[in-house]
Amino acid sequence: MAKKQIDIVAKEMGLDENIKKYLKRVERSLIVSIPIIMDNGKLEVFEGYRVHHSTVRGPGKGGIRYSKDVFLDEVKALAMWMTWKNSLLKLPLGGAKGGVCVDPTKLSRNELERLTRRYTAEIINMIGPDIDIPAPDINTNPQIMAWIMDVYSMQKGKSVPGVVTGKPIEIGGSVGRETATGMGLYFILEALCMKLNLNLKYLSVVIQGFGNVGGNIAQILYEKGVKIVAVSDISGGLYDAGGLNIKELIDWRDQNHLLEEFDKKENEFVNNEEILEIECDILIPAAIENQITESNVDNINCQIIIEGANGPTTPEADEILKDRGIIVVPDILANAGGVCVSYFEYIQDIHSYFWKLDRINLELKNVLLEAFEEVYTLSKEKKVTLRIAAYMIAISRLSKAIELRGIFP
Ligand code: GLU
Repeated sequence: MAKKQIDIVAKEMGLDENIKKYLKRVERSLIVSIPIIMDNGKLEVFEGYRVHHSTVRGPGKGGIRYSKDVFLDEVKALAMWMTWKNSLLKLPLGGAKGGVCVDPTKLSRNELERLTRRYTAEIINMIGPDIDIPAPDINTNPQIMAWIMDVYSMQKGKSVPGVVTGKPIEIGGSVGRETATGMGLYFILEALCMKLNLNLKYLSVVIQGFGNVGGNIAQILYEKGVKIVAVSDISGGLYDAGGLNIKELIDWRDQNHLLEEFDKKENEFVNNEEILEIECDILIPAAIENQITESNVDNINCQIIIEGANGPTTPEADEILKDRGIIVVPDILANAGGVCVSYFEYIQDIHSYFWKLDRINLELKNVLLEAFEEVYTLSKEKKVTLRIAAYMIAISRLSKAIELRGIFP
């Protein structure tokens, strides 16, 4: 998918063949074994990855996901998408990603800690404040970032908070980081509605995913009085044409419950495929990649799609959505709030000077709206989709950097 996207954009912008070839490959990838002694005394060995797609514009940057389905090619694609995202936002960072092939819900807290510490030790030469800075992604959180920071710091003999972002605030994390992706998505959505002359208050929203991205955007929209008709987590979701009580569902989630276990007196249960086909104005896929594909795209029933997840729409589906006149705000713009505040966290750590929440949100808004304007204007000018415009901007910024630096030796 990621390579196909480069081909499509390369053709559109007449990208130099050499640069295209260069961009399709990741700089380096590492596969590691992570042996840990489980609580029952038995040894288990997990597989982990860290990939740098590009460090041309700065150190690598991107999350680490824990999932039983993670595989190397997926991590490579995710690292590539981070390169585009950081370039689009003009952050002085490259693109990287990591993953461990594990179902973390099956691990105790101690096992999770041992796994994280050993994974960090295995990738330690690939990370660092001026090499590559990991962050949370699917199934990883501030506590896991704290363990990573600790392992790295113990190795260096000093505290190095700038080695990861998305840390707890007490050890150099940033205010506003946990809600940043949802917040950013909201700023973009608001800006888009302004362009299209739509009032968010009269629109209905469906959200697939109820984790850091889906949960936060649901909460923000709910507090603004926007009607959310369906949300889902890994177990499936709830639908109510009159609007769901998101606060209740967030409380339920925070007590470690799944949505399928929620008392569905007034709400209808929907699975994760059905939720995408519910009639609404705005659909926010905020779970995993490959959700809107050739096989269900004809049943998508909305005006606008905002990609909270990375890679939720396949290039084939994208083409059909364009023909159907459905506006898609691409992942590298829509969910870029997370890495943007990660960048703020990183510079706060390096300067040892911490900002207030107002400043974080103001600077986040400035960065994202500047990127949004640039993308929107180019898409109108070139008569291309927002995704193609976003990619054109990100890739031309990066190819300029490659040209200036030249190819070593
Ligand atoms: N995992 C997030 C993403 O996909 C955040 C990455 C980061 O903050 O470095 O954008």
